[in-house]
Amino acid sequence: MIITQQKDIEEIYDMIKSYSKILIVGCDGCCQPPRSINEAKVLAQMLELKARSEGKELKWKAITVLRQCDDRIAATTVRPFIEHYDAIVSLSCGLGVVMMNKVFENILTYPAQNSLFGGAENNAENYFAEYCETCGECLLGVTGGVCPMAGCAKNLSNGPCGGTVGGKCEVGGYTHDCAWVKIWDRLRKFNRLDLFNKYRPPRNYRKWSSPRFAEINKTYTNEEETMEEEK
Ligand code: SF4
Ligand code: SF4
Repeated sequence: MIITQQKDIEEIYDMIKSYSKILIVGCDGCCQPPRSINEAKVLAQMLELKARSEGKELKWKAITVLRQCDDRIAATTVRPFIEHYDAIVSLSCGLGVVMMNKVFENILTYPAQNSLFGGAENNAENYFAEYCETCGECLLGVTGGVCPMAGCAKNLSNGPCGGTVGGKCEVGGYTHDCAWVKIWDRLRKFNRLDLFNKYRPPRNYRKWSSPRFAEINKTYTNEEETMEEEK
């Protein structure tokens, strides 16, 4: 899931205050907390109130899309509405906002959200956590299922560094668990410390640097780069 945080209403209003008719588009995809039709309507009403407080009239319509980050779905759902509006405000993550601007070239789509990170949902402890940074060379097979890229503040492939104290990381003032202590604990539990002692070669940061592209329905081999010319 993409963890998002709604922008301050002042910031959103500032982006759209020169328009008189806006389309507010929710996303039913994976952004969390949910930003669907109800959230779109609430945002629309807040913007309308804000406009009124400045003596302006703001007309709006709120709709939602199954996934804004899919060009076909975004196009078929939103196209029937856009000719009636001056601008679009999107409640999706950044993927959706960029896709909407790409699909609808003649109207600007503005973001209502800040996209924070890709997060896994820990319901028992009531939080989302970034467990993967999509580095392109997964190490979980040799780290007991703990990601050293997302979990280690220094993204170390061979840890721990000298900054771990009592299982906690020096970065952040010893409040977070040291990923490499967790990795050691996991591998010891399964009698696989042979994996811990193995040297892991430097990472190929080309696989981890933006922009990244991959063909739909193509299975990539290890030798092939997923980075290609932008379509
Ligand atoms: S090693 Fe890379 S691909 Fe694997 S979980 Fe960590 S960031 Fe994601
Ligand atoms: S203390 Fe552990 S988690 Fe923190 S930077 Fe060092 S190896 Fe990484």
